[in-house]
Amino acid sequence: MNSSYGEFMRRVVELADIGHAQALLSWDQETFMPPRGAGPRARSVGTLAGLYHEKLTDPALVALVEDLRGCALEGDEEVNWRFVERDQRRALKVPRELVVELSQTQSLAHEAWVAARKDSDFPRFRPWLEKILGLQQEVAHRVGFEGSIYNAFLDEYEPYARVETVAPLLEQLRRRLVPLVARIAATGRRPAAGILDQQFPVDRQEIFGRRVLADLGFDLERGRLDTSVHPFCSGTSPLDVRLTTRYSPGQLTSALFGIIHEAGHGLYEQGLPDAGGAPVGGGISLGIHESQSRMWENMIGRSRPFWQHYLPQLRELFPDQLGSVGVDEFWAAINQVQPSLIRVEADEVTYNLHILLRFELEQGLVDGSIRVADLPELWDERMSSYLGVRPPDAARGVLQDTHWSIGLIGYFPTYSLGNLYAAQFFAKATQELPGLMEQVAAGQFGGLRGWLNQHIHAKGRRLKADELVRQVTGAPLGVEAFVLYLEEKYGGLYELA
Ligand code: ZN
Repeated sequence: MNSSYGEFMRRVVELADIGHAQALLSWDQETFMPPRGAGPRARSVGTLAGLYHEKLTDPALVALVEDLRGCALEGDEEVNWRFVERDQRRALKVPRELVVELSQTQSLAHEAWVAARKDSDFPRFRPWLEKILGLQQEVAHRVGFEGSIYNAFLDEYEPYARVETVAPLLEQLRRRLVPLVARIAATGRRPAAGILDQQFPVDRQEIFGRRVLADLGFDLERGRLDTSVHPFCSGTSPLDVRLTTRYSPGQLTSALFGIIHEAGHGLYEQGLPDAGGAPVGGGISLGIHESQSRMWENMIGRSRPFWQHYLPQLRELFPDQLGSVGVDEFWAAINQVQPSLIRVEADEVTYNLHILLRFELEQGLVDGSIRVADLPELWDERMSSYLGVRPPDAARGVLQDTHWSIGLIGYFPTYSLGNLYAAQFFAKATQELPGLMEQVAAGQFGGLRGWLNQHIHAKGRRLKADELVRQVTGAPLGVEAFVLYLEEKYGGLYELA
């Protein structure tokens, strides 16, 4: 058995090396590649993807996975085997022609989506979405699923999660959030967000962002920060983690909270066990990943203690813009709740309603109870019932997000799961770390970082997401911690009775 496992791991690490190269090529494409490099890059990326698939489904590796199935592996060996078995099972069940057709359709559909969004013309995108949906349903049926077909979609991004558990959870969240949004709106209070509508030179934004990044404990000997159109974090190993952000003079908070958000992802990646390319050293799921970014961005970065420490430094960099602004005023401005049309601009309170709407529509699309043709109308109806706003056109409605055009169906709920995980972990951290927010007010983040590292990051993939939540917080995932966090914070900010 030892020799089988040794050969198994040799092949698995080779797969990780190909994945490493793929990740770096796509990082480069988003950051430094000159525009005309796109053609040869696409070819190279395609070749690597083919090589990965070939090696993953190599009959020798298939035989090794089978050999090891009966060996009662334990610990990290079992985790590594389980991960590869799952990946391989999927790859074997989906024929190459279907993979190629899906990938070509997604690339054409993305172009169609860009044009359709520009002209706010949903009918132009409709046949593409129908085709993507059909192909993805075929993949789901081939891969197989238990219960709802949506499980096959969700499982891609949140392994082992089931819609039968997630849907009631998010429905509970909707029932708690809709009235909270209405109560906040009824106060008629409009914090002085005008202080953010100014010009903030980009070079100074960068100085501040890099200072915060270093203070949070992101290790620049094992990572980088660059710029890209869409901010992201790409980790190939705990020793090489790459973050991006984007700067614009008129948008101080977008770059800053973008950096803190990606730093949360980056701290997770840097904190994972260095397993030399073995699957056990990876992140658990998109939801768990997002819990780390949301916690640092919202629970820390948008907290009052954080700005007690940083506002004086920010004022020094922007004396003309912020010279007379106080902590309470700034804190209120960065936490303004405003039901709006666009998900990516939404505040912490309304954000999840944007996700819920997409999650509900996705389930209907996937199980056939909603037709693509009816999507724009259903979208607008739900926006108006959940948020009280109605999109004036499809560009600001159903066409706003890129996800469906590139085949990411089942991805959206991981954003909300991330918020729920974040709040539940953070409530536990606050209990176990007395004086946590006093440390934040002093610009000290090592206590929380160490706690997250010990309880979450260093475990890699040794636990499934629901096992991790139970182990760390003593309870399954629920909505209570998140709703409580929102009610406390926004109850204070908006003086809710
Ligand atoms: Zn994120």
